[in-house]
Amino acid sequence: MPADALLPLLKSTFGFDAFRGRQGEVVGRVMAGERTLAVMPTGAGKSLTYQLPAVALNGCVIVVSPLIALMHDQLRGARAAGIRAASLTSVDADWAATRQAYRDGNLDLLYVAPERATGEGFRTLLEAQTPALFAIDEAHCVSEWGHDFRPDYRLLRPLLDAFPAVPRLALTATADKHTREDILVQLGISADGLILAGFDRPNIRYAVRPRVSPAKQLVDFIAANPGPGIVYAPTRSGTERLAQQIAAATGRRVAAYHAGLDPDVRARVQHEFVASEDGIVTATVAFGMGIDKPDVRFVAHAGLPKSIESYYQETGRAGRDGDPAEAMMLWGADDFARARMRLSELPEARIAGERARLNALAALVETVECRRALLLRHFGENPPERCGNCDNCLDPAAQVDATVLAQKLLSAVYRTGQSFGAGHIEAVLCGRSDERIASRGHDKLSVFGIVASEEARLIKPLVRSLMAREALDTTEHGGLMLGPAARAMMKGETAVLMAEPPVKRTQRAARGGPGATPNPVGDPLFDALRAMRRELAAEANVPPYVIFHDAVLRTMASERPATRSALADIPGVGGKKLDAWGDAFLGVIRQF
Ligand code: ADP
Ligand code: ZN
Repeated sequence: MPADALLPLLKSTFGFDAFRGRQGEVVGRVMAGERTLAVMPTGAGKSLTYQLPAVALNGCVIVVSPLIALMHDQLRGARAAGIRAASLTSVDADWAATRQAYRDGNLDLLYVAPERATGEGFRTLLEAQTPALFAIDEAHCVSEWGHDFRPDYRLLRPLLDAFPAVPRLALTATADKHTREDILVQLGISADGLILAGFDRPNIRYAVRPRVSPAKQLVDFIAANPGPGIVYAPTRSGTERLAQQIAAATGRRVAAYHAGLDPDVRARVQHEFVASEDGIVTATVAFGMGIDKPDVRFVAHAGLPKSIESYYQETGRAGRDGDPAEAMMLWGADDFARARMRLSELPEARIAGERARLNALAALVETVECRRALLLRHFGENPPERCGNCDNCLDPAAQVDATVLAQKLLSAVYRTGQSFGAGHIEAVLCGRSDERIASRGHDKLSVFGIVASEEARLIKPLVRSLMAREALDTTEHGGLMLGPAARAMMKGETAVLMAEPPVKRTQRAARGGPGATPNPVGDPLFDALRAMRRELAAEANVPPYVIFHDAVLRTMASERPATRSALADIPGVGGKKLDAWGDAFLGVIRQF
């Protein structure tokens, strides 16, 4: 059966008019009984590729998933669409009833944790009633090459092989070439079963800025973003400090989240965030794993992420519903200094790899070219030169040739003995003598006053840039010293191009344009629809987006459907939701 034959079911169950990206191909393979590995970025709509077959096929789809919280979010979503779904995990109490429902053929979808799936009891259950499909979520967990190897996943193979006729669908958002090949081998899927969707997340707008005054920069950014968002900070104390500062300055609800908090506090923060329409969480990277919240409108980084991979994964938590979302990173020279310091503590074998990671990040923060193009090239794609939806495309910075200035700067660092900070070096270069300079004779050096005043504004950004490029490093006491890349630069062997300092740019960017939410501001009908959604969500004990996404409410507000059938035409309104909540929303619309 070609996937297009399922379009009516796609509409009646999920309310969608078309498959997105490569969903149709994946569903087509599943329906044809084939084995598939689908690598699709977060937000591409992986779950639909087994949830739709779950409705279409006779028999139950088994979904193996490692994260219980994520499983339960999905369960809620599936049930709201009218799918008969259940889960077997350590926190589920109704095992016996679930197993009975499975045996009686009353389940479309059964989520199970890997450690359950590999047990004898589960195999016996499946022997009583052959499943329609095995869906293996987070399939990179089966590979030691992946970043999240779980031994339990290795035990799945015998179970799969016990039912050779049942199709297999492995799903993951993050797998490089090596990992992909390994997943295919480990799960017994042939190479032509690989479907690789692009990494691009076109609705996410990327911006990267030097960190000048982090609290203020974040507050300004958040003020333009009324929707829910995550702010990543590198340290636990940082998350708590930022939570207070942002709450005080914006009046919004902000909660800190990190591994040092009680598990029940963490669970509450996560639960409230998922349910909220405007909540903010300041978090260490521990937050976000296993959260299925499609309407996150922004992800901000208060410091440098660990790698391009983690940056992509963390920013990928924004805008999974396809609506515009923003990713903004603040970075400082000290981030690089710290990261390079940590390099030296690593075992020899890992240093080169970690250094390459850091250099890739340096390229991302330093580039005046398209950020998205750089990211996608990093993942092996061949994107267009300009995306039109990142800071550098929207507000291109002029490029300055700072090769000679860099030579002067490095030479001043060298001649002053590699122990002074950026302020002192700047004063020397600009010829501003003070007591400290005079007492050390730095005003007698050949580098004293060799930088013209109109170039002075470039010095601090250049220091940042040279730190990122490993031409400068910091001493134990915070002074500047030469780094491994300095020599080639001083000899004029490497050109140093840098972006025009961003002070003016941020002001321009701040003036330009709306925040990340396209939701109408001050539209009373839209607000009333949201209020109704909140009410229904509280009643059904689900997060608001499970009822309808913002995009659905927006369309309702602009098209004002008067009848059930007009409401059913709106993308995102499926049969079950129409029955459950359609009249409530029609009632709201009628009042306007
Ligand atoms: P993933 O698991 O790949 O990160 P999800 O399965 O959570 O993505 O889907 C992301 C969002 O995309 C969900 O909110 C879902 O409702 C929406 N979505 C999925 N398929 C479609 C489609 N064909 N048309 C419109 N929206 C879709
Ligand atoms: Zn771009």
